Amino acid sequence: MAAPPSWNREKDPFVELIGSDAITRRVAELGAAITADYKALGAGEDVVVLGVLKGSVIFLADLVRYIELPLAMDFIGVASYGDATVSSGVVQITQDLTKPIEHKHVLLVEDIVDTGHTVHYLLENLGTRKPASLKLCSLLHKPDRSERAVHIDYLGFTIPNKFVVGYGLDVAQRYRNLPYIGYVNQP
Ligand code: 5GP
Repeated sequence: MAAPPSWNREKDPFVELIGSDAITRRVAELGAAITADYKALGAGEDVVVLGVLKGSVIFLADLVRYIELPLAMDFIGVASYGDATVSSGVVQITQDLTKPIEHKHVLLVEDIVDTGHTVHYLLENLGTRKPASLKLCSLLHKPDRSERAVHIDYLGFTIPNKFVVGYGLDVAQRYRNLPYIGYVNQP
């Protein structure tokens, strides 16, 4: 187990849920599995790893270095309507891809599947753009919150129903750069 990080919130410090060593080990395993599957598929140079902004950025940056293929990277920005705690299920694309994905093998990379609305919408939307294949890789999944059945092809960790932060995930845009995943300790 890695030493606890040297910085945290002074008030209501986050409780470590998944340490950075465990994250690194799991990301390496996911990268190896993805490499093997896409090689078997004969995907060649047509793999596009597609990150959902901004939460997936840290995960994606680590993951792609464990995928041994000449892949391309692109990003998509989304916003969900409604307040932060109650998902409305309505998703809007705020920033679209820079290139078409027709005939590409697309791997959508998300930080967390919570209710499932965001990835459900994105998979439907991306599917209409005629990719050669479309798969989902999510670092985290909170099954207790599921409102939409979503198949996660590559999953890092299943977690309990807690609001998590770090390794890309934010609280009001802060703390994405914590090197571990922690949760907000609610009384
Ligand atoms: P869904 O549409 O699956 O309900 O929500 C997906 C999005 O909600 C994630 O991409 C993430 O931005 C946000 N989200 C869901 N759960 C958490 C959480 O525990 N912590 C943080 N920081 N964001 C979350």
